[in-house]
Amino acid sequence: MKLYNTLTKKVEDFVPYEGNKVRLYTCGPTVYHYAHIGNIRNYIGHDILDKTLRYLGYDVCRAMNITDVGHLTSDSDSGEDKMEVAKKREHKSAMEIAKFYTDAFFEDFLKVNCKIPEIVSPATENIEQYITIIEKLLKDGYAYESGGNIYFDISKLDNYYCLTNQDSNLVVGARESVEDDSNKRNQADFVLWFTTSKFENHELLWDSPWGKGYPGWHIECSGISIKYLGEHLDIHGGGVDNIFPHHTNEIAQSEAYLGHKWCNYWFHNEHLLDDSGKMSKSKGDILTVSSLVQKGYDPLAFRFMCLNSHYRKQLLFNYENLEQAQKTLNKLKKRISSLKDDGDIDEELFHSYVMKFRDAMENDLNTSNALSVLYEVLKDNHLNDNTKKKLVEDFDQIFSLDLLSINSTDDNSLDSEILEKIQERSDAKKNKDFLLADKIRDELLERGIKLIDTREGTTYEFIKD
Ligand code: AMP
Ligand code: ZN
Repeated sequence: MKLYNTLTKKVEDFVPYEGNKVRLYTCGPTVYHYAHIGNIRNYIGHDILDKTLRYLGYDVCRAMNITDVGHLTSDSDSGEDKMEVAKKREHKSAMEIAKFYTDAFFEDFLKVNCKIPEIVSPATENIEQYITIIEKLLKDGYAYESGGNIYFDISKLDNYYCLTNQDSNLVVGARESVEDDSNKRNQADFVLWFTTSKFENHELLWDSPWGKGYPGWHIECSGISIKYLGEHLDIHGGGVDNIFPHHTNEIAQSEAYLGHKWCNYWFHNEHLLDDSGKMSKSKGDILTVSSLVQKGYDPLAFRFMCLNSHYRKQLLFNYENLEQAQKTLNKLKKRISSLKDDGDIDEELFHSYVMKFRDAMENDLNTSNALSVLYEVLKDNHLNDNTKKKLVEDFDQIFSLDLLSINSTDDNSLDSEILEKIQERSDAKKNKDFLLADKIRDELLERGIKLIDTREGTTYEFIKD
C-alpha cells in the first residue's frame, strides 16, 4: 500500500515494522464538549485507514486515547485546562463532563459506522506510565524542573522540527496566544507535568515525585501508545492541526525516552471547513452528527460526503453539499436494492473488479476512485446481479455505508416532507395561526432550509451554514 507520510512529505510504500503486524495509533477527542462533524471527518479518515489495512490482510492493533485532562485552551502550554472550562460552563465535576462527552462522542462515532479501536484509554488512567517516562527524561537530561513544572528541553535534540521542517523562530512566532513562560529555557519547550497549577481548584491532581500535579497533553499520547502498542509504532495519526506542536512534541519525548526511532509513518487528515473557516469546538454552536440526524439526514450521507473527497484535501461543509450526498447515496442504494438473485458468481470478473478497487484504496486511500469502481460495477452489463452484490458487499467492508441494507428513504422523501410543511404553514396562515406558521418556518430554518415567499407561492432553498 502507498501512503502519504508527513515525516518524509512523500507518498511511500507502507512497510510495517514487524512482518504483517500493524500498530496504529489515533489521537482521540478532548471530551470537554461535543465532537463536531469536523472531528468526525477526522475519525472517518482513520476508520478508512484501519479498515483498508485489514482488508489488505494486515493484522492491525489500534489504540486511541481519550483526552480527559491536560489539554489547555491553547495547544501550547498557555490557557486553562479545557476540562476546567467545561466544569465552569456546566457546573459538573471533571469526570462527569468526561463521561458525558465520551458517551456522546462514541454515539456519533458509531452512527457514521466507525469501528471502535481495540484499545481506547482515557488519559487519566495511565498516570503511572507518564511518571515513568518523565523520570527517565529527567535522569537522562532531556527534561528539567523549573518553577514547579517539569519541562522538556527541545535544545537537547538535533532534530526537534523533523515533522515540520520549520525554522524554530518561525514556529514560535506563528503560534497564537503563546504566553511567555519565564520558567522555560527555550520558548518551544513544553510541559510534561504541571505541579504548580496556574489555576486554583484544579480538580484532577495526582501524587508524583515532584509533588501533586497533572500531566501535560502531549505526554498522554506517547504514554498510552508505548504502554499498549510497544516501542515501535507503525502509523500515528490525527488532524493536520496536530502536526505542530502535538505530534512534534510526542516524537521528541518518545524518542528521547526510547533512545531510537519511534513511529515510521505519520498520517494526517485535512480539515472540514464551514463558510467561516475551520470548524472548531470553541466557535460556539457545534454542529454534530446527532444534530444532522435531528435535521432529517442520514449520518451515512455525511460519511459518503467525506468519502467523495480525499482525506488530504480540505472539505467544505454546507447543507447543499450534504443534500447532494444524501440524494446520490439514496439513488445508489436504490439501484443496489433492485439487484436480483440470479445465478453463480463470475469469479474472474469478481476478482478483476476487486483488484481495481484495491488499486484505488492502496493508492493513498483514494476513496473517490474506489467509489467510481463501484459505479462501474453497477453499470457493467457483463456482470450478473449476484456478482455485483458480492462486489458491493466486498467494497462496503471499507466504505461502511450499509449499501446492502434496505433503503428506508427514497430520493424525494425530504423534498416531499418540506412541501408538506409548506402546505401546513400556508394552511396555518389562512387560519390566522401565525404562531404556528412562524414555528414551522423556524423549524425548517433550524434544519438549514429557508422558505422563500413569492407571489407564485412558497419555495425553499438550502442555506449555506
Ligand atoms: P479535539 O477533540 O479537539 O482534540 O480534536 C479531535 C481530532 O479532530 C483531532 O485529531 C483534530 O486534529 C481533529 N480536528 C479538529 N478540528 C477539525 C476539523 N475542523 N476538521 C477535521 N478534523 C478536525
Ligand atoms: Zn495525541
